[in-house]
Amino acid sequence: MNELEQLPIPLLQWFQEHARTLPWRSDPTPYHVWVSEIMLQQTRVAAVLDYYRRFMEALPTVADLAAVDDDRLMKLWQGLGYYSRARNLKKAAGQIMDRFGGRFPDTYEDILSLSGVGEYTAGAISAIAFGIPVPAVDGNVLRVVARITGDRGDIGKPDTKARMRQALLETMPRQFPGAYDQALMELGALVCLPNGAPLCAQCPAADFCTACREGLTAEIPVKAPKKARRVEERTVYLILRAGRIALRRRAARGLLACLWEFPNELRGDRGALDRWGIAPLHMDHGGSGKHIFSHIEWRMEGLVVHTDTEVLPEGWVWADRAALAETYAVPNAFQSFLPLAIGALEGEQESLWN
Ligand code: SF4
Repeated sequence: MNELEQLPIPLLQWFQEHARTLPWRSDPTPYHVWVSEIMLQQTRVAAVLDYYRRFMEALPTVADLAAVDDDRLMKLWQGLGYYSRARNLKKAAGQIMDRFGGRFPDTYEDILSLSGVGEYTAGAISAIAFGIPVPAVDGNVLRVVARITGDRGDIGKPDTKARMRQALLETMPRQFPGAYDQALMELGALVCLPNGAPLCAQCPAADFCTACREGLTAEIPVKAPKKARRVEERTVYLILRAGRIALRRRAARGLLACLWEFPNELRGDRGALDRWGIAPLHMDHGGSGKHIFSHIEWRMEGLVVHTDTEVLPEGWVWADRAALAETYAVPNAFQSFLPLAIGALEGEQESLWN
């Protein structure tokens, strides 16, 4: 992987000129780097900016994060998806308080020992916040390294990743590990784009990049096709009573754990309302929606149910409009039903007052 030996100087020069100004870059404390890197997993920078600002205003220190109420944390994360990231942040904050006396750990191994922190995040925090020369290898970096070196290994496989990580470790500039890690990620995000459309003419590695020289950018990186997602058809019940809507807390483990949802079941389950003890006064079509998780796709049909049943099953609540907006974190999967739910609540509220 000799090409990587040529990369540091041109890449660092390019980064100096082209680095985006981002809030966590202006003050790269371990806490700021950690929270931003967790938020950025599976999520675009533009989508993270507002969440990051709100999160830091609400929870400016590790101690604040360790002590935050679960529902408040989920509300701060609502819409970002992959909620286990937020739960692990809180768990790891507790570990920092208990095991490290509230001081952020300052070795790669200790950082890696925190909940929800993998090799990539531990590498980023170590290099950016502490100046420890460790690579931070995410999908962007794997693509850049594979193309520059012409490596045809499947980048989804651990041995390919380990080989590339080792090559980076051996060639990274010891004085500027944080800038180098960020520069690699930035190059992958802004120039060495996925899907065979890299901007090689603007790239600081163009003179020695194997894929560019040999016209292989559409073939490298090699990535095995993903397994097809399972499709689930679900009915989402928007159950209304006296200006409130029924919400159910999801189970403590698994998909969207502990978040609040409009009750929903596999389509064709005609006994759901009976099972819940809810007597419908009248029902109406409640729109439709789709949500794609990594392994499952939900195709949802809404059903608006007006009822005078007051008692809900255990673990359910009646939420009014304010509580729906401010208290209960309803994940993005149900986003398409929110306007209808809010509209229906307003309608119910008006009829109560009239
Ligand atoms: S020259 Fe092209 S393919 Fe090579 S690293 Fe740069 S953008 Fe990617």
